[in-house]
Amino acid sequence: MAYHLGIVSGKGGVGKTSITASIACLLAEDGLPIIAVDTDVDAPNLAILFQAKNNQVEEFKVQTTEKASLIPDKCVHCKLCIDDAFCHFDALKWDEENLIPIIDSIACEGCGACKLFCPEGAFEVEPVNSGTINHLKSIYEFDVITGETILGAQTSGKLVTELRKYADGVAKEESKEIMIIDGPPGIGCPVIAMLSGLNYVIVITEPTTAALHDADRVISVINNFEIPFGIIINKADMYLEGNKQIKEYLNENNIELLGEIPLDSKWPYAIANGIPIIKAHPNGISAQNLKEISKKIKVKIKENSK
Ligand code: SF4
Ligand code: SF4
Repeated sequence: MAYHLGIVSGKGGVGKTSITASIACLLAEDGLPIIAVDTDVDAPNLAILFQAKNNQVEEFKVQTTEKASLIPDKCVHCKLCIDDAFCHFDALKWDEENLIPIIDSIACEGCGACKLFCPEGAFEVEPVNSGTINHLKSIYEFDVITGETILGAQTSGKLVTELRKYADGVAKEESKEIMIIDGPPGIGCPVIAMLSGLNYVIVITEPTTAALHDADRVISVINNFEIPFGIIINKADMYLEGNKQIKEYLNENNIELLGEIPLDSKWPYAIANGIPIIKAHPNGISAQNLKEISKKIKVKIKENSK
């Protein structure tokens, strides 16, 4: 079983994916057999930082959503499905010209009420494509596996679960002992599906009230899973009072600080060009700090394998 290292932030825009990419590259440079997984299925972009988009190993569709469809021949145009409001998601509208219901496939949650209540059995509820899983080769000599939801799929959590299963299969087949998993923002189903079974979590935050608030929320979820974790403060010197507040929070809650990355003018170039900072500026201040953090992660991986 691979060592599963997750990276979350609770809040978007704090540099989670960029830091994930650099840590993955650093571990790979040290010869660790890694595989990277992007579970931010609503906005996946880890593969872009690894320039892997055009180097596909496998792509397949996943059906984790159900949607209603109408069997027009069975409909007797009674309009009960509209007048009696079968659908609590407002997904049924009436087609005045053809005298049949129209299903808004984005609004439909696949709850099955229409199928249950239509006296003629004119609705069917069936699985539909809800996302894709992509297995790609990065230019940094390790694979990256990403998931991407289809518009209106509404089941990101299930897609993350399928993605994790597929990634576990690849890791086993290719003897990749370390899985680096970039997590989704927030604390909803996708994050819960992502956190399941992790060995260690890195929480990325920055010295703002909003970022600390969101980090605290995701930490409460991590604590529920009883997964060990530590914090990285990104843009650490952006707001010194905010930095102080984070340190107080860490002390009060006995949370490990893995490291700090200062505001660094080199980041915009790296991000704009889709290059992990560790590759764009390997001798810069951010790279130095990330190398120190990476050393700590390696110790944790080593301790786990004892
Ligand atoms: S789908 Fe069913 S409930 Fe709706 S109009 Fe047709 S027969 Fe009536
Ligand atoms: S399956 Fe549920 S959500 Fe979808 S149209 Fe039927 S009643 Fe509405």
